[in-house]
Amino acid sequence: MGKDMHVIVCVKQVPDTTNVRINPETNTLMREGVESIMNPYDEYALEEALKLKDRHGARVSVISMGPPQADVVLREALARGADDGVLLTDRAFAGADTLATSYAIAQAIKKINPNPDLVFFGKQAIDGDTAQVGPGVSEFLGCTLVTYVQALSVEGDTFTVETHMDEGTDVLEGKLPAVMTVVKEASTPRFASLSGWVGAKKAGLPKWGAADVGAVKEMCGLDGSPTKVVKIFAPPVKTGGIRVDGRAAPGEAVAAIVKALQDKGVVKS
Ligand code: FAD
Repeated sequence: MGKDMHVIVCVKQVPDTTNVRINPETNTLMREGVESIMNPYDEYALEEALKLKDRHGARVSVISMGPPQADVVLREALARGADDGVLLTDRAFAGADTLATSYAIAQAIKKINPNPDLVFFGKQAIDGDTAQVGPGVSEFLGCTLVTYVQALSVEGDTFTVETHMDEGTDVLEGKLPAVMTVVKEASTPRFASLSGWVGAKKAGLPKWGAADVGAVKEMCGLDGSPTKVVKIFAPPVKTGGIRVDGRAAPGEAVAAIVKALQDKGVVKS
């Protein structure tokens, strides 16, 4: 593996806030007045790809699916060092759930390169938050999936990864090709250089619709989305509760907790 290595990174444009507001009437995101950015986790995914470019001379392609103005995140990726990008944009993709999104992106990947060595995703998007698109695409590509990647090395067609688990770190080895989702513990994303921005602003960015990627209409957008959002709401903020400070007299604190549990009928007196 060397000059021929090809890595694809999927980047999503998201509102610059984790506090996404929902229109209660339509159950859709309210994007007005909120600046858009590259999904922060996708910056870590891009950085893993760029490190492979630094070490192995990999070609790095980026894909985003979104409205025409989502080309901004692709240009940002180019400015940081990606080689080329494609924007998937079409009214036929509107209303896509994670399954239809994964399908459209997988179709685009197959068109760019039916046999890429690695496809990177962020761990999750900060607006949708499902973390389903990476695994979904791996299924459509019929490709090995590794999630929560925090370190990666590639030798020949073998990869070794560290994955970030709740209880520690797993070290896994496998064969390329693979789809990976990347966590923030992986690295510090690089900044774009001024010359990078100049090149990125001028770069041609193809826009592909459903027909361009050979996507079946019934599997795209709302038509291809089995998920129905019945209701979206912010959970009520919990108030009240009893706070017991056990630092001075732990015995008294335990007694107070037991009494509170007895009063609520959780434990018998
Ligand atoms: P995650 O699965 O959390 O993202 C993981 C990673 O996948 C990201 O880090 C990124 O690398 C990649 N990724 C995710 N999305 C993209 C993308 N678009 N392009 C490139 N890479 C990506 N959203 C709308 O904007 N308009 C709608 O009309 C709409 N309708 C919906 C209808 C339904 C019934 C449902 C369930 C969802 C709808 N959504 C809509 C939300 C949309 O499905 C999700 O935004 C999208 O599928 C990605 O899911 P996620 O945000 O949870 O991403």
